[in-house]
Amino acid sequence: MVSGVHTHDVVIVGGGHNALVAAAYLGRAGRSVVVLERLDHVGGAAVSERPWAGVDARLSRYSYLVSLLPRAIIDDLDLRIALRRRRYSSYTPDPADPARGILIDNADAEATGASFARVTGTTGEADRFASFTARLEPAARAVFPTMTEPLRRRSAVRIAVADDRLWDDLVDNPLGAVLRSSLDTDIARGIALTDGLIGTFATADDESLRQNRCFLYHVIGGGTGDWDVPVGGMGQVSGELERAARTAGADLRTGVEVTAVSPDGEVTVGGSRPETLRGRLVLSGVGPAVLAGLLRAGGAAPDGEDQAPEGAQVKVNMLLRRLPKLCDAAVTPEAAFGGTFHINETMSQLDAAHATAVGGGIPNPLPAEIYCHSLTDPSILGEDLRASGAHTLTLFGLQVPHRLVAGEDRDAARAALLAAAQRSLDSVLAEPIADVVFEAPDGSACIEARTTADLEDSLGMAGGDIFHGDLSWPWADDDEPLETPAQRWGVATAHDRVLVCGSGSRRGGAVSGLGGHSAAMAALEMLAG
Ligand SMILES: Cc1cc2nc3c(=O)[nH]c(=O)nc-3n(C[C@H](O)[C@H](O)[C@H](O)COP(=O)(O)OP(=O)(O)OC[C@H]3O[C@@H](n4cnc5c(N)ncnc54)[C@H](O)[C@@H]3O)c2cc1C
Repeated sequence: MVSGVHTHDVVIVGGGHNALVAAAYLGRAGRSVVVLERLDHVGGAAVSERPWAGVDARLSRYSYLVSLLPRAIIDDLDLRIALRRRRYSSYTPDPADPARGILIDNADAEATGASFARVTGTTGEADRFASFTARLEPAARAVFPTMTEPLRRRSAVRIAVADDRLWDDLVDNPLGAVLRSSLDTDIARGIALTDGLIGTFATADDESLRQNRCFLYHVIGGGTGDWDVPVGGMGQVSGELERAARTAGADLRTGVEVTAVSPDGEVTVGGSRPETLRGRLVLSGVGPAVLAGLLRAGGAAPDGEDQAPEGAQVKVNMLLRRLPKLCDAAVTPEAAFGGTFHINETMSQLDAAHATAVGGGIPNPLPAEIYCHSLTDPSILGEDLRASGAHTLTLFGLQVPHRLVAGEDRDAARAALLAAAQRSLDSVLAEPIADVVFEAPDGSACIEARTTADLEDSLGMAGGDIFHGDLSWPWADDDEPLETPAQRWGVATAHDRVLVCGSGSRRGGAVSGLGGHSAAMAALEMLAG
């Protein structure tokens, strides 16, 4: 199939966690593989960093929770990754009266019911929420195991889900309809809807069904939809993948920027030591939009219109002297921040925020979810910090599309989003968050915002899109060609020798390793052929 003299079996562009998964599988199968990463370290968006000089806090600076990384990949690659389950699913203060909120405690159904009743006036909503969640379980159990296999056809997955009404609700109709028919209150509908809006700019009733696809990925992980804390932070996940790739013999090169990819497998590296490498196959760990630019630079004819990806989030990383006091005296900060803390995320607030952003404004209040890593895993803090009662806090703001910051002054746009995030958080606290932010030795406050523009600059993520583009359904359409290995694994491009191995592959979104796994499986078939 592939002829000529080649230096490597596989050249991988970009060194994100997916690239490392692919490199580890390929290396273990005896294939020569080189990974080219422009930064001075691998891991992409799955890394731990110390953002503040002189402060021993290793934050999961970008991605922070794990759900979609299959046990099979952990086992196949002998990864020493511990994922810790959280007792509390979520805490959601009532935006109309933040002195009360819904605490969903996985270990105490009675307390959860009482908490729903305090906010909604009835225990029925707790039951409805539990029933809605339980209804999703067959879909999770049917879909998740298929993710490490060649793509199934849509109709086959529908049969496996074995619930036509559920399929219609999740896959065929905009998510808003099932949320309204299953749940009675704006606040409970909002708690569920957020799973559809992570990094995804949409309304509950968006005809594009982007929110449905994002929702599906958020509720199927591990067959349960649980989002777990990686012990040691995301750096531990990528660190283990790096170890697995190196042990398997992969050549990982950092500080090398790929400037062009030719459809016949030539990869050009720029910088102070320009070089051209050849691969029998090229795997792209960068997003499809970035790959399209590299292919154009490598002489490929344009492949239709490039889809411009657009992220829709802002992430705020904080280190606190202590957890802040809440308006709600019935809940401890340890419980509230122990799961996912939703602020200003009722369904109507989420839709209103979308409308504001469509009109060019920053949503006010900014819908956001917060999570405290150090409550579940204190190992990311140095001993002194731990002993002092310090905690990390991560805020993930929704409905802030890249268009709000693109072309604007970077610093001003970042400051505006940080201010909006702080305002939103302060609306449910009994003290301003600024009062408990840790101070670094140089006197600066340990709080930073990462906008979509920052992600473009630091990670090369086009449009700051955390999934490298819209998520796809994790199956093949019934009439889709599945003739080649690349098609069967959902990693094909318009060029036979170039495969997608990152988040932009069919099932690749999130820290899952699925893009890397799928590309490696396709590549091994092709190289053996
Ligand atoms: C703020 C944020 C929060 C998130 N939260 C979560 C979460 O909690 N859980 C979850 O599952 N997912 C989360 N995600 C999504 C998840 O992190 C990504 O989908 C995933 O990490 C992408 O991995 P990847 O290996 O496909 O690509 P990336 O991590 O994007 O890696 C691509 C790599 O390619 C490199 N590169 C780019 N251009 C070039 C070039 N020309 N030459 C060489 N190298 C190049 C980049 O530097 C980068 O290292 C989050 C993402 C972000 C940004």
